[in-house]
Amino acid sequence: MTGLVDCNNFFVSCERTRNPALEGRPVVVLSNNDGCVVARSNEAKALGIKMGQPAFQIRDLIDAGAVIALSGNHLLYRDLSIKVHAIFHRYAPSAIDYSVDEAFLDMTGIPTVALREIGRNIVEACDRELHLPVTIGFAPTKTLAKIVTELCKKRGRRVGILMSAADAEGLLDSFPIGELWGIGRRLAKRLYSSGVYTAGDLRRSTRSAVRDSMGVNGEKIWNELNGIPCIELSHVGRDVQDSISETRTFPEDVIDFDFMRTKISIYASSCARRLRAMKSVCGRVAVFMRTNRFHTDTPYLRPGTEIVLPVPSSDTQTIVAAALQGLRRIWLPRVPMKRAGVILSDITSPEALQPSLFDAPSQSASTSELMRIIDSINTVPGAPKLRLANQLTDLRRPSGNDGYSSSFQAPREGR
Ligand SMILES: [Mg+2]
Repeated sequence: MTGLVDCNNFFVSCERTRNPALEGRPVVVLSNNDGCVVARSNEAKALGIKMGQPAFQIRDLIDAGAVIALSGNHLLYRDLSIKVHAIFHRYAPSAIDYSVDEAFLDMTGIPTVALREIGRNIVEACDRELHLPVTIGFAPTKTLAKIVTELCKKRGRRVGILMSAADAEGLLDSFPIGELWGIGRRLAKRLYSSGVYTAGDLRRSTRSAVRDSMGVNGEKIWNELNGIPCIELSHVGRDVQDSISETRTFPEDVIDFDFMRTKISIYASSCARRLRAMKSVCGRVAVFMRTNRFHTDTPYLRPGTEIVLPVPSSDTQTIVAAALQGLRRIWLPRVPMKRAGVILSDITSPEALQPSLFDAPSQSASTSELMRIIDSINTVPGAPKLRLANQLTDLRRPSGNDGYSSSFQAPREGR
């Protein structure tokens, strides 16, 4: 199962956290230069105000006080975005941040009876800690999860679960094709002309007809509507990715600090490698651990912390050092941990950086060259041949069985 968690009317909800008087009133947030509407409260939607509508078209409503129009406060939105994503990551075994206010939650291996409770926990935490309303849909594929979330929002529900694609029939017939994830306005128009008006119509088309008219991407959407997952988590959000994470569940609980240090070091350097592949740098390195949530005799603990880098970096040594600093901060002696991970955020391109005059440059030319060479040797993901020395404790502790340890067994080539 996959979950999609999405903040309701995100920018408006952010504004309401600062000014409760906006609650229950028609509110819109305008784009830069106050040109057009980029967010609407439910009350504003009910007035018929459209997403992207030019502000001058609703000027009368604004002047009459029927609608409150705000200029965007993007620093506030960014701050709340980071905080709300941290909550998503806290409750889901694995989460991929998809946009400023949405994340896909990988629910593989979670008993279905637990989904509703996890969903409720996320909704309640976002309400309680940030006063941000969120909606969550669970379904067998990401496209179906998107649909469930949208329908929940329309119906004023906060958590929705679609157990199988077979149960989706009625839902899909009520879902306009133009609102379907991955279907643009132009494609929707073309589909109308061939009699496809809803997601249900598309699902009832034959696979070959969809492939002929919509190509490979259309076929993917068709598969997803039929309950066959084929949009990879690592592929979504490529353009808007604002965090990179590596998280693992251990086959056995971990209480050994050295073992955990090795793992965190490996995850951090893997994240750094992916960061460099995106030609980006990160400003924050977060580390977290979790105890086994299904052990009812011990409390469910989720220690985590975040290190802010003095200068954004993609250097493995800098990122690993920050991750290990975080680990030392949150380490709990003698508490068995089932899961741990590293999250890089505040991702930007190095060209956008404006280091202050007094910051020591964290990435000298020679470090960049070193990283380039390491990456050119470690071309196969998952089993790096060249590592930092602090990732080598694995040699003495081969018990971790998460796909990394095997690479230590007598490499025959590429030494
Ligand atoms: Mg949203």
